[in-house]
Amino acid sequence: MKTYKYLFIAFTFLLFTNTFSVLANHLPPTKKFVVVLDAGHGGKDPGNRGNGYKEKDIALNIILKIGKELEKQNDIEVVYTRKTDVFVTLDKRAEIANDANADLFVSVHCNAAEATQAHGTETFVLGLHRNADNLKIAMKENSVIYLEDDYEVTYGGFDPNSPASYIGMTLMQEEYLDQSILLSDYVQKEFTNKLKRTDRGVKQAGFLVLRKTYMPSVLVETGFLTNKTEGKYLNSSAGQQKMASAILEGILSYKKSINLHSTEMSEEDQISQATVETATSTDVYNGITFKVQLAAGSTAIETKSYNFKGLNGVSRNKEGNLYKYYFGSTSDYLEIQAKQREAKAAGYKNCYIVAFKNNNKISVNEALKSKTK
Ligand SMILES: [Zn+2]
Repeated sequence: MKTYKYLFIAFTFLLFTNTFSVLANHLPPTKKFVVVLDAGHGGKDPGNRGNGYKEKDIALNIILKIGKELEKQNDIEVVYTRKTDVFVTLDKRAEIANDANADLFVSVHCNAAEATQAHGTETFVLGLHRNADNLKIAMKENSVIYLEDDYEVTYGGFDPNSPASYIGMTLMQEEYLDQSILLSDYVQKEFTNKLKRTDRGVKQAGFLVLRKTYMPSVLVETGFLTNKTEGKYLNSSAGQQKMASAILEGILSYKKSINLHSTEMSEEDQISQATVETATSTDVYNGITFKVQLAAGSTAIETKSYNFKGLNGVSRNKEGNLYKYYFGSTSDYLEIQAKQREAKAAGYKNCYIVAFKNNNKISVNEALKSKTK
């Protein structure tokens, strides 16, 4: 008897949670845009010590200033790899970003060079170095793994000082390269246009910290501590604030550009939609393909489910200056209506059904009238 009682309780609980999850499906999505802020170095690793300044402190100050502003954005969640002066391994930094399911990874550093006149900002994405200078910077930043206890094991025999190691580097970041370059561009433009810093450009090199992140990722070299003037600027609170504001603006511009604006339904579409609701369309329309239009935007976004609130089977089509994103593809009108409900439940409240005949968009009304039996 006792068992039945437990079964009953379990059943009621299941029923209840099921109802709840169905309700939850209809609530607007709450996933925030997650930005991981990574202050280079820390703890026993001071980073470069150009002119006696400490890279680890400057990087942290800039990161905290970016974070302070980013946290004010309601739709952004900020995750830090470190907020204090502690040592964090390069792999751990990537792990933190991956665990947070981040949308963006931004690592902040300061440069150093033997030539004290070297100055300016540059932003890196992961890739094969195009020249020896880029390789040198990656080698320097990567050499911090020597401070890790098991670096040979952790990094699979990767030797930061051996150029050969870089050739065999797996470039999982390739998938996010376009987006990483986009962000780098925004950041560099802020530095150059607003702060009038010298632009050394967007570059590629084999940075270990970017190697294992599964999201668009960049490494910003904010300037050279080895340069007297630039070092002083970067070590000053005012300089750090300016660099932080520039990176912040870059992040916000990037976010804005990849945000798809939900397409509004045209009046004509709305009318045809209303007619359609009452129509008794129950099956297949030969020669017609129905799709659910989710969104449109000027940037090409990968049609992966994580970019589309978890929806699988999204397709992209360039129409004029816009990329349009569709969910589902079928000649069955009932099926596409179900797809539309699914998209709405996922958060695309303004999505609507569109129809194609011979790859040309036609009104849904026209499509439904075309049925021949
Ligand atoms: Zn560094």
